[in-house]
Amino acid sequence: MPALSQRITTLNGDGSDGWDVFYRARAMLDAGEDVTELTIGEHDIRTDPSILRAMHDSAMGGHTGYAIVPGVSALRDKVAARVQAQSGVPTTRDNVLVTPGGQAALFAAHMAVCSQGDAALIVDPYYATYPGTLRAAGAVPRAVPTRSAHGFLPQREALEAACDGAASLLINTPNNPTGAVYPRETLEMIADVVRNQDMWLISDEVYDVQVWDGTHLSPRAIPGMAERTLVIGSMSKSHAMTGSRIGWIVGPEAAIEALIDLATNTTYGVPGYIQDAAVFGLQSGLDLEAEVAAPFRRRREIAARVLAEQSAVRAIPAQGAMYVMLDVRATGLSGEAFANALLETHRIAVMPGESFGQSAAGHVRVAMTVEDARFEAALRQLCGFASGLAKAA
Ligand code: PMP
Repeated sequence: MPALSQRITTLNGDGSDGWDVFYRARAMLDAGEDVTELTIGEHDIRTDPSILRAMHDSAMGGHTGYAIVPGVSALRDKVAARVQAQSGVPTTRDNVLVTPGGQAALFAAHMAVCSQGDAALIVDPYYATYPGTLRAAGAVPRAVPTRSAHGFLPQREALEAACDGAASLLINTPNNPTGAVYPRETLEMIADVVRNQDMWLISDEVYDVQVWDGTHLSPRAIPGMAERTLVIGSMSKSHAMTGSRIGWIVGPEAAIEALIDLATNTTYGVPGYIQDAAVFGLQSGLDLEAEVAAPFRRRREIAARVLAEQSAVRAIPAQGAMYVMLDVRATGLSGEAFANALLETHRIAVMPGESFGQSAAGHVRVAMTVEDARFEAALRQLCGFASGLAKAA
C-alpha cells in the first residue's frame, strides 16, 4: 500500500494513545471475564424513549434526506435560546452551527482558528482526544501544566509562560478528567490572558448541566469574550445521546459562516431525524436532564463517603462531570502501573491519569458509570488495594 499521510500517522504524537487499559478491559469482557468497567464516559442508562420516539416519528415522516448544512432552524434556535439563558449573551441561530457531536465541533473549531503549524494551547490534564484532534486540524498542541494541589485549575503564570505565539486556548469546564468546575476568578484570569494575547478561546462545555458543587459559568459571558470565544456543546452527556452524535458550536456570526463552509465540504450536515430528536430533547425541559444526571450526583456522594474513610488515596473534589480523579501516589506506583495492577488483581478497569497528560501522573480517573452498589464495592476494593500498596511502599 502507498504511504499514509504524515498528518494521520502522527496523530497520536510519540506516546501511546492512553487507551491500553481500556482495550485490555474490553478484551477481558469479550473473553467472558467479569470486569467492572470504570473507564469511559458512557452513561449506564440509555437515551430516553420519548426522544427515540421523536427520532422515529421524524424519520417515518420523511426527514431522511439531506438536512440543511448549518442545522435545522428549530434546533439552531433552541441552542441559541439555551446558551443565551445560561450566559446572558444575546445569541441567535446565526451564532450556531449544528455538528455531528462535540468531538467534530472541537475539530472544526480548531480548523477555523488555527492555521497550519500554529500552536494551540490545552490545559493538562486534558480529555484524551484533545492532542490528536488539534493535530488533525494541523495545529501543534502545547500543554499548560496544572497541579493536583491546585485542584488542577490553570494558574496565570503557567498560562502566560505557554502562550507565546499561540492561536488558541482550549478549556473544559466542568472538566473531564478532573471534575473541576472553574470558578469565576479562574475564568476572568483566562479571559484576561486570552484578550492580552489576542487569542481565541475554545470553551468545551459538554458537561454544562452536570454540576454538583458551585455553578457553571460560560467564559463567553465575560465582557469582551463573546467575540473571541467558540463554545462547544453536545447532547451526549446532558441527554444520554452519545450514540446520536449531535452537538454544536456557538460563536461570532462571521466565524459560524466560515464554519458552515467547512461543514459543507466535510460533514455536509447532521441527519434531520437526529436533529428533530435533539429539538424534542431540548424542549423536554430540565427535569429530563436532571434525571440523566441523577446517578452521577448520587455516586459522587457515595465516592465522597467511601474516600473519607481512608487515607491511601486522595480524592480531587469532583464538582462536576461523571468522574472522580484519585491521587494514588502514596502507593509508590504510576497511575498506569496502578491501573494495570488493579485490572489484573481485582478485575476493575480505571483510566491511568497519564492518559490525560503529565499533570495527572500518579492519578487514576474513575468513571461513575456502573450502578450504585457495584460502584461502591469497586471503589472500596480500589481503596483497599491502594492501602495495601501504600503500607508496603
Ligand atoms: N469533550 C469532552 C470533555 C468529553 O469528555 C467528550 C466525550 N467524552 C467530548 C468532548 C465529545 O463528546 P461528543 O462528541 O460525544 O459530543
